Amino acid sequence: MASRPDWHFRSFGPLSPEARTAIEDTKKYPMDELVPLEATQKPFDERFRNVAITNDAGATEHFLVQSQLIPKAGWEVLLLTPGEQAWTRAVGTVALTALLLLVVGLIATVVIQRRVQLQERMRAALSMQEELEHRVTQRTAELKEANSLIMQEVEERRAAETLLRQTQTELIQAGKLAALGQMAAALSHEFNQPLAAVKSFARNAGAYLERGEPEKVRQNVGMIDDMVDRLAAISTHLRNFARRPGEKTEPVLLNRALDSAMVILEPKMRASGCSVSHDIGDADIWVLGGQVRLQQVFVNLLSNAVDAMRDIPEPVVDLTVQHDDERVSVNVRDRGTGMTDAEIAQLFDPFFTTKEPGKGMGLGLSISYNIVRDFGGTLEGRNHPDGGAVFSVTLKLAESQTMAAAE
Ligand code: ADP
Repeated sequence: MASRPDWHFRSFGPLSPEARTAIEDTKKYPMDELVPLEATQKPFDERFRNVAITNDAGATEHFLVQSQLIPKAGWEVLLLTPGEQAWTRAVGTVALTALLLLVVGLIATVVIQRRVQLQERMRAALSMQEELEHRVTQRTAELKEANSLIMQEVEERRAAETLLRQTQTELIQAGKLAALGQMAAALSHEFNQPLAAVKSFARNAGAYLERGEPEKVRQNVGMIDDMVDRLAAISTHLRNFARRPGEKTEPVLLNRALDSAMVILEPKMRASGCSVSHDIGDADIWVLGGQVRLQQVFVNLLSNAVDAMRDIPEPVVDLTVQHDDERVSVNVRDRGTGMTDAEIAQLFDPFFTTKEPGKGMGLGLSISYNIVRDFGGTLEGRNHPDGGAVFSVTLKLAESQTMAAAE
């Protein structure tokens, strides 16, 4: 049997006589057509054979033969693939395989390239990170070094500042004591004058007592009382002047210090017909200082203002307060004659006074200056553009917690 009609009843090889007889006996096949095909065979590999079949017209065809035995039926089935077709298929298969391999190769190349690129990028990133870390470490070390240098410098500056402060304090103190020494003669005059007066008033009082004139006695004793007050005042000034700076500062009420200073100066103001106009307000203002010392500063400033307006018809002292978040300034302004530049330059020098002998000692502003400076504040004196002098005390505002604690 064959798929091609021209191969029907043709055997693949010469039939043995027994086979021919067996076929003849079946009487099924036309014996004259049982002519073997003109075929030459050679093995191709274990499974295939190459077969060349020459047809009756003499044309030779090449086939690749694959055979399979079907034992139960006793058949051998041969599959003949025309050589050209097999070749084409093989070539096709090879080409396809090659193509596939190429595609796989390409994909593999791309993947590998990607991985290589990725690895390279990772390596680059890693080295960059290492470089960065290295730089950060280096920079940190540099910063640490710079920082420690700065800290060292700060420490040195702090030590130098402390030393400077100490030296300044010592100098001020030494200067004050030296000034006191120099002033010993003037001071003895300051004391001797009232003492001599006291002595003569006492003598007079004794004489009047003997004469039985009690009114005159009372007058002399009153004058002794005034002189003793003056002596006490001088002695208080001196004590304050000799005092070492650096006494404790604490939150104090600015309003209270101003009020009590005005109360103390009340008699003096009344005597000179002087009034005070102020805009202090009712709100409590807490500053860093000492209550009594602060009050002393305002007494000095107000007293000077009253003195400066002795020849003015309607003397008025303007008291104004200005403050920001950290500091408060109290301005004491008078309508007096003001000060010359030379006076302004010496205002705060100890014993500088333009007042008549016996009226001023030239210590008020110097003491006030030191007090305010001890509080961490400033004291300035200048002429007001509209005439008269204005003195400004600037103090540190106390923090609210400290204020509450102080209350
Ligand atoms: P004193 O009042 O004993 O003279 P101060 O130290 O208080 O000492 O003042 C020193 C000097 O500064 C005064 O003698 C005066 O010349 C000047 N002075 C102070 N306050 C005023 C003022 N308000 N107007 C003009 N001059 C002033």
